[in-house]
Amino acid sequence: MDIETGTQELEQWKKKYFDHLEESEYREKQWAEADDLLRKTISRLTLAADGVDKTLDRQLRDLRNAIRDRVTAAQLRRCIDDMSGTLVKLDGERRKREPRGDHNPLLELLDALSLPRGTGRQARALRKQLETAAGAEPQAITAAFAALIHAALELSVGEHSGEPVSRSGLLARLFGGHAAINEPAPATPVSAPEHRVAPAAPQSAGNDSAREILIRLLERLSLPDALRERVEAIREQIEKMGQGDSWDRVLQQIADLIEAIHARTEQEKQGITEFLNQLSRQLQQVDEQLQNSGRVQEASRQAGEQLDSAVKKEITGIESSVRDATDLDALRKVVQTHIETVLEHMQRHRESEQQRFQDATARMAGMSERLRAMEHEAETLRERVREERSQAMTDALTGIPNRLAYEERLQQEVARWKRFGTPLVLVMWDVDRFKDINDRFGHKAGDKVLRAIANVLAGGVRETDFVARYGGEEFVQLMTGSSLAECLPVVEKLRAAVEATGFHFRDEAVVVTVSCGLARFTDGDSAEQCFERADKALYRAKEQGRNRCDLSD
Ligand code: GH3
Ligand code: MG
Ligand code: MG
Repeated sequence: MDIETGTQELEQWKKKYFDHLEESEYREKQWAEADDLLRKTISRLTLAADGVDKTLDRQLRDLRNAIRDRVTAAQLRRCIDDMSGTLVKLDGERRKREPRGDHNPLLELLDALSLPRGTGRQARALRKQLETAAGAEPQAITAAFAALIHAALELSVGEHSGEPVSRSGLLARLFGGHAAINEPAPATPVSAPEHRVAPAAPQSAGNDSAREILIRLLERLSLPDALRERVEAIREQIEKMGQGDSWDRVLQQIADLIEAIHARTEQEKQGITEFLNQLSRQLQQVDEQLQNSGRVQEASRQAGEQLDSAVKKEITGIESSVRDATDLDALRKVVQTHIETVLEHMQRHRESEQQRFQDATARMAGMSERLRAMEHEAETLRERVREERSQAMTDALTGIPNRLAYEERLQQEVARWKRFGTPLVLVMWDVDRFKDINDRFGHKAGDKVLRAIANVLAGGVRETDFVARYGGEEFVQLMTGSSLAECLPVVEKLRAAVEATGFHFRDEAVVVTVSCGLARFTDGDSAEQCFERADKALYRAKEQGRNRCDLSD
């Protein structure tokens, strides 16, 4: 091979190599975008796990900060590893706390219900009773249990009136923080319990009120569609319960239901842990790839320099041989040797560049493959987050936004109102005499009414307005951009539309009506104050005969 061919070939290799470098930079950019997307997704995902454990909360916060500060992949990995460790530890602790085998459904139910703070003493008494009295009178235990749930519900009502109530725990999660039932819990003692077990149990914890309380408890569970059928079956069973019947089966089923909810949460947690582990591994690979690619570039630069100086050295050798030459034949030999050495250098350089080129190609293929996998995973995750979010924000019975969605929207609208002063009106809706409908035609009929009313309300509001099921038979509406006076005809129209919706139950035409209270946000208002005024206006509408709308002054 002569020098010219060697140089040409070298040029070609160089070009190929630089083309590859360019492509590599392009890939790195794509990596960076995927990385960005993943960081955002994890950041949102971490919010879902908040509130489970203090250490985990701190780690989640650190992770979110790390993501925000765009720390390196290696630092991020450390955060994630820490967190995965905590998740594994938490899981271990939970398993220790809840050993399988000795299966007492009531104890499990009691554990599952993280009851409000005020019920601690009562819960402990009941727990002791459940643990020790294996063959105790089932009626007594049922009554104590119902009394406990009753007390919890009462305390939840208290929250609405401003008393602090523990918001963490399963109860709060199940009810989505839903605690604002405007009416007091049923208090009419139907039959005084024979065995009063828990000292703080209210007198009303008889069989009928136990039934009432459990139904209310079930009604307020905001569950995914998949579990609604089970709730329905339990509710029907509760309705069929006669005086003196054993509650064991029903309570067992409620306990199973709670366990199913637990299992779902567990599954979700597992999914997040797996994802975090996978991500941690992938980030590690990205890190290695980037470091590697930097090392290869450096090696190539050094090899180029070495070749350069080797060639220069040979040329200097030729120059001095030419200068000092006396014998042409000897000169020819010396020059020949120099040229051979140059060619050898070039050959070696070409070989090592070729090797680097092959390595780079292989690495690039691997990187593309992982990039595709990561993109796919990010897409799946994004889809999952979107679905979970939408499920968490939708009321399973009516399909309209639920209380959680309302809280979020309220925050946005209040911020807008504060910033731009756009009028904001809050409307509280409540179905009139809804209890009668349930009592006369059954809960299924009641549910049908709720769905129809939700349709009327949600179908009749402007695009900028918002309607949600606040809980039970209450709906809440936010109207933006209009004064109270302008909102009144709109809600009047909705009220009339509900009245005009024909219901037929057991061949009987039934008119269902709703009442509402309106209040507008005024200077210095908090959301709670405005809510309170709308609620008072609603109360007046009820007092004045129902099927009407009243304004707050
Ligand atoms: P008022 O006109 O004063 O509002 O009377 P009301 O009967 O509507 O008031 P009350 O608050 O006493 O009754 C509300 C009832 O709504 C009690 C509860 O059993 C029922 N309820 C709450 N949530 C649901 C649900 O999801 N489905 C059904 N069918 N009933 C529910
Ligand atoms: Mg009500
Ligand atoms: Mg009502």
